Amino acid sequence: MIHMNRRSLLKSSFMPLAGALGLPSLSHAVQEASTPYRRPKLKITEVRTAEVRVHGYQVHVRVYTDQGIVGQGETTDASQGNVPLIQSFARMLVGQDPLNIEAAFERIRTSGVFAGAQAGQYVTALTGVEIALWDIAGKALGLPVYQLLGGKVRDRVRIYCDSGAREMIPGNEASKARIRQIQELGFTAAKIDIDDATDPARFDRVNWTASNGEIDHMIAKIAFTRELYPKNIDLAVDMHARYDATTGKRVAKEVEPFKLMWLEEPVPAENIDAMREVRASTSTPICCGENIYMRWGFREILEKRAADIIMPDFQKTGGLLEARKIADMAHTYYVPVAPHAVTSPVGMMATAHVCAAIPNFLVQEWHWIDSLDLWRNWVKEGEIIQKGFIAMPERPGIGVEMNDDGARKAQVPGTPWFVKRA
Ligand code: MG
Repeated sequence: MIHMNRRSLLKSSFMPLAGALGLPSLSHAVQEASTPYRRPKLKITEVRTAEVRVHGYQVHVRVYTDQGIVGQGETTDASQGNVPLIQSFARMLVGQDPLNIEAAFERIRTSGVFAGAQAGQYVTALTGVEIALWDIAGKALGLPVYQLLGGKVRDRVRIYCDSGAREMIPGNEASKARIRQIQELGFTAAKIDIDDATDPARFDRVNWTASNGEIDHMIAKIAFTRELYPKNIDLAVDMHARYDATTGKRVAKEVEPFKLMWLEEPVPAENIDAMREVRASTSTPICCGENIYMRWGFREILEKRAADIIMPDFQKTGGLLEARKIADMAHTYYVPVAPHAVTSPVGMMATAHVCAAIPNFLVQEWHWIDSLDLWRNWVKEGEIIQKGFIAMPERPGIGVEMNDDGARKAQVPGTPWFVKRA
């Protein structure tokens, strides 16, 4: 490979042209000439998708390039409708340089201002593409994604285990077994759900004001779980954004003695003032944001001090660079980030790259305890969580590659599997 420093390059070929071309042209000429030696030059050729259903519905994205490098990304939760959106984005991607990630993201985002690009499925679809571009960039440059996001501030990322579908029923043997299993897997933090649509103490099928009986049941679930975990295992509790502010405040107060890692979305996150009211009423840390999109969505939460901890989902909130920007914004308020994460090892590892790079990371979710076989066979690297932590790989890009045979077991019937579009 021929190496030319900037001075020799300017001397040898471009200085005589400077006067004739002017500085912008010179800059362009220097970039063009230096590119083969300094920076890989790729073009996007194609975008393909696959749809799976595990913990909810996910779309996997592959972005192809003219040099054989393929990037992968994953979207979740707001994934329904992502496939036609991603195909519509492909028209803006093919022929472009995949390493200009911010430019690609902004071009697609701003072109959708009238098409829903502020939140929801549009941003989620764009997120999957953005993550695939990071994977390409890492592979093309021979570096792990965290290195491109500012480098590691930690070598391993702490993961908490969501208890999965196993509801914590006080005294129940299966619930006890699940708690034992989570400990045996080595996790240092866990999460349970306490919202219950089928609670017999519930008087109304639609309204979510909890009765005294319902609140008693919630507290019993937490007490049962808390007692079985040793003190050094942190516990978070999720109310799934279902309840009203009255209930949220009552529960946040009653759970104070349990010293929770957080109480999650005691009210929906759409009304920031209501969330702030709950937070102001209690010493229990309040966490929210799994359905909030991009910096603009988190701005008001932070400005109004409505949450102690934010939990953006990096597979839907706008991608890895957007996640870094949200985290940095939170850092100026001394608010830690605990990403919501319910995806395959591909999305989990993509999320972990950001978590490795941001100073204010707290803990990352894992939600596949009910799908262990799928989890362990999804990528060629096998199990990526060891004793409750993801050790950041040195491999380029995201650092895991899908094992199609394993992942296809979760394919949504009747949908294409990374098929070339006409
Ligand atoms: Mg939640």
